[in-house]
Parts: sequence; C-alpha cells; structure tokens
Amino acid sequence: MSDPNLNAPFITRFAPSPNGDLHLGHALSAMTGFELAARNGGRFLLRIEDIDTQRTREEHVTHIFDDLRWLGLTWEEPVLRQSARFDAYRAATATLLKQGLLYPCFATRGEVDAAVAIDPTGTDPDGAPLYPGLYKDLAPHEIERRRANGEPFCLRLDMDQALKVAQTLLRGAPLTFREWNGESASPPVHVVADPSRWGDAIIVRKDTPTSYHLAVVLDDAMQSVSHIVRGRDLYAATDLHRLLQVLFGLPEPIYHHHRLLLDPAGQKLSKSLRHTSLRALRATGATPAAIRATIRNAQARA
Ligand code: GLU
Repeated sequence: MSDPNLNAPFITRFAPSPNGDLHLGHALSAMTGFELAARNGGRFLLRIEDIDTQRTREEHVTHIFDDLRWLGLTWEEPVLRQSARFDAYRAATATLLKQGLLYPCFATRGEVDAAVAIDPTGTDPDGAPLYPGLYKDLAPHEIERRRANGEPFCLRLDMDQALKVAQTLLRGAPLTFREWNGESASPPVHVVADPSRWGDAIIVRKDTPTSYHLAVVLDDAMQSVSHIVRGRDLYAATDLHRLLQVLFGLPEPIYHHHRLLLDPAGQKLSKSLRHTSLRALRATGATPAAIRATIRNAQARA
C-alpha cells in the first residue's frame, strides 16, 4: 500500500506547556524528537502550548528556551505560540458546531461529581469520570438564557454523532493510527483507535477558546508535522486526536510514543527526581552530558 507519509519530509516537534519549568521527562521528549529528526534528515520544531493564559508565565517560556539550548538543541524560528492561534481554533470550532457535533455544557465539576456518585459512568483514560450527559439535550432557549446570564460553559464533542460522521468519512474502514518504534528499518504498525473511551470530551474549555486536543491536532497539521514524538502518557489521547483529524479532513501523521523514565527499581521515576527541574539540576552542577546519561539509563529500564 502506498504510504504518502513515509516519503513526505520528516518534520517533528517538541510542544511544552509553559506552566512550569522543564524536567527530565521533557528533556527526554525533546531530545528524542531532535535526534529522530537529525537521523532522518528532518526538521525539528518547537511549539509553545500556552493556551492556558492563566497559568502561562513568560519566565517559563524564557526558561524553556534556555534549558533546551543548554541541552544542545536547536530549532527553527519563529517558534509558534498557541496563544497566537485562537482565531484558528474558533474557526475550527465553528465548523464542528455547524455539523452539530459540539454542544455547550454548563455543568460545574461539583454537578458532574454528584451525578456520577449516584449513577457511575466509568472513567476516561486519564481517570476522570466519563461525562454523564447533563445539559446534553438542553433546549435552545435555555442555552440562550444561560449564555445571556453570562454562565460559563465548555463545548463537548457529541461522541456518538462524531463517530457516525467519522464512519461515513472513513467509508466504514476502522479508525486507526500508525505507531512507529523510531527505528528507520521498521515500518509503523496500525493500531485501532477507540475514541469512545473519552466519552463526550471537552473540545473547547470554559476558560480558553480551545482545549489541548483541538489545538494540538490543528497545529500539528498546520505545521505539516509528519512525526509526532511524545511520551506514552499521551498514547490514549491519540484515539481522540485521530477522530478530530478525520472530522477536519487533516492528514494522518505517524506517532512515536516514547517510553517513560523509570528508576533503578523499575518504578516510575520518583516524583522528586521526575519533577526536579532542569534548571535546578543545572544549578547543582549537572552537565548536559550527565542529564543525557541519566535519561538513557532510566529509559533503558523502561
Ligand atoms: N503540551 C503537551 C504537554 O506539555 C504535549 C503535547 C504533545 O506532545 O502532544 O504535555
């Protein structure tokens, strides 16, 4: 089967959220993407995922640049910031709204917790309760009344409807993604995606005109990212990302979800080390070579 991605230019990216300093896990992700791009004659991009305007601090953005430079990485300029893309997210949201695939949800966290305490819905891959459907069938005049009152709301994907539309677009073929182990000689394998395990996921948050899922899908496509390199903690999110790509008619990238860091006992790297920032390690005299060695050892155990 011809596979356009395998011949397309190799473009990957590291996409940190500037709400804290980078730690070893980030260094692993950034270095993995950078090295894969170098090995494959590709391009490496850096994207600042600053959709959370409340938590973004400019000093964190500066620290990200400093830390990555210190590690020896280089990237293309200009660096895309998601806060500059809110209009694009709004336009994409409008297309899903027009198709009836999103609905406003006024529920507070407390209301959701109370509803699932009475009638449990199970949890999504992140461990959050699956949305129990409150406000799903709100009458248009009630939506208008609440909006006029200034009640905050998010926009949720009507998962059942979205899956139906995707089925039509895929002409009945299963929704899959391609996972690659990073070895040049190995072709990616096809993995069946099951976005329904996210339930009616939030596509536009209450506090910002997008969500991680919407922004990442649109930006990877806009930047022609061919290979998405990120940690296995985001593996399950790929199911939802593939669904959005199909709904928007976007190209399908190849994914490489790298292993996470483990300590010598084979446990997740201890919180204290995992969350020790690169800046703090550097302040105690760590060198980039020492960071690389720590990461290699921790990864070899994973
Ligand atoms: N911004 C996300 C994070 O910092 C990563 C996004 C991605 O690689 O898909 O966890």
